Amino acid sequence: MPIIASTASNWGDDPWAQGSWSLIGRHGSPDDRTALGTPIGGRLRIAGEATHPARAGMTHGAYETGIAAADWAWTAGHRDVIVVGAGMAGLAAAQQLRAHGAEVRVLEARDRVGGRTTGVEVGGFVFDLGANWLQQYDDNVLGRLADKLELRVVPTEFESLDLDLEDELRSRLAAAETHSSITDVLDAWPGGVSKHLRRVVDTAITIDSGASLDWMSARYGFEPGVGEGDRWIVGSYQRLVDHLADGVAVSLSSPVRDIRADADGVVINGELRADAAIVTVPLGPLRDITFTPALPAPHQAALAHLGAGRVEKIILRSDTRFWPDPAPYFRIYGPEEGSISEWLDATEADGTPTLVGLFAGPWLERLWSGPDIAARIVDTCYPSGDQGVPHVASTT
Ligand SMILES: Cc1cc2nc3c(=O)[nH]c(=O)nc-3n(C[C@H](O)[C@H](O)[C@H](O)COP(=O)(O)OP(=O)(O)OC[C@H]3O[C@@H](n4cnc5c(N)ncnc54)[C@H](O)[C@@H]3O)c2cc1C
Repeated sequence: MPIIASTASNWGDDPWAQGSWSLIGRHGSPDDRTALGTPIGGRLRIAGEATHPARAGMTHGAYETGIAAADWAWTAGHRDVIVVGAGMAGLAAAQQLRAHGAEVRVLEARDRVGGRTTGVEVGGFVFDLGANWLQQYDDNVLGRLADKLELRVVPTEFESLDLDLEDELRSRLAAAETHSSITDVLDAWPGGVSKHLRRVVDTAITIDSGASLDWMSARYGFEPGVGEGDRWIVGSYQRLVDHLADGVAVSLSSPVRDIRADADGVVINGELRADAAIVTVPLGPLRDITFTPALPAPHQAALAHLGAGRVEKIILRSDTRFWPDPAPYFRIYGPEEGSISEWLDATEADGTPTLVGLFAGPWLERLWSGPDIAARIVDTCYPSGDQGVPHVASTT
C-alpha cells in the first residue's frame, strides 16, 4: 500500500458538531434560519452558519452572522458580552465586539478554536479536515481577508454530470408542493429513477448534504454556494482562524450547558454573568443546551425544521501517484446506492502525491467504522492499488 500518511474526519460523531453543516428539512424553509437568528428577549442571540438565510453551511455566512450579532449587542447597549463557541461566527462576533470597545469572553467546548474549520498536519503539510474552500470568492468577506493575508488560493471547477438533467431536477424540486421531500419528487419522476438520474442526484445533492433525501426539503434542499467561484485554500484555513482569534480571550475546554436570561442579563452554567450572550454552536449542540426561559416558539420550530447531514473527509498522502484519474477534481461512486465521494488532487500543495476525498451516503457506515479508515477507503475505491482503476469509474 503506497499510503505514507492519512487523516480522516469524524464530524458525525463529534459531540460539538453532530454533523457537517445545516440543511433545511421538508417542513422548513429559509425563514427558519432567519427565525433562529432573531434576538431573544433583548439579551440573547443565536448566530452561526445555520442562521444565515442566504449563505448557510459556509464559513463566510457564519462570519457574517457573527458580525451582525455583535452589532446587535453593541447597539442594544450591551458592553459585557459572552460569546459561546469559537468557530467563524464566534470569532467574528468577538472581534467585532472588541472593535466596538465591549468586554468580550468566548467560551469554547473544545481544546482548540476554529470549530468546523481545522487544519491538521498530514505527512508534513497542513490540510483542512473541515472547510477548505472559500465559496462565492468574489463576494466573500473571508476571501478579502485571504487576499490581505496573501494566502494561496486555487480555483476548482465542479463539473456537472449532466447539466440538462440537473436543471430539470432543480426545476422539479423548486416546483414541488410545500413539505415535499426530495424522495417525493423522485418517486413522481416520469418513467422512474434511472441509474443516471440517481447519479445526478448523488453529485448534485447527496455529496453537498450527506442527509437522507426523505428528510430534505424538495424546495429548499438546494441552497446557494457550492460550485459558485470556489477557491481551495492551500495550507488550510488555519491562518484565517489564527488571525481572527488574535487578541480574543477564549476559555478553551469550557462547554456551555445552561443559559439563563432575564431583564438584568445572562447567567451561563449558573456562574458566569454578562449583559448578553451570543450563542454560535451548531444545531445539535444547541439542542443540548438548557435555556431558561425556554427558547421562543419560532426558534423551537426552526430547530425542529433544520438539521445536519454527514459528509466526511479523508486526506491521503502517498509516495506514488496511485490514482489514474488525470482530472484535478473527480468522483467515485460506491457500491451501495446513494454513496459518493468527490476527490481533489491536492498534490500541488507541496509536490507529494495527495488526495483529499469527501464522502457521503450509506457507505460511510462501513468505511468510517473502526480503525484503518484509509486502508478501507483505498481498498474500496482503488482496489488494485498502485496500478489501480477506481471501483466505479469517475464520470466527469
Ligand atoms: C467536512 C466539511 C467540509 C466543509 N467544507 C466547507 C467549505 O469548503 N467551504 C465552506 O465555506 N464551508 C465548508 N464547511 C462548513 C463550514 O465549516 C461551517 O459552515 C462553518 O465553519 C461554521 O462556523 P460556525 O461558527 O457557525 O460553527 P462552528 O465552526 O461549528 O463553531 C461553533 C463552535 O462552538 C463550539 N461548541 C459547540 N457546542 C458548544 C457548547 N455547548 N459550549 C461551548 N462551545 C461549543 C464548537 O466546538 C465550535 O468551535 C464544511 C464543513 C465540513 C464539516
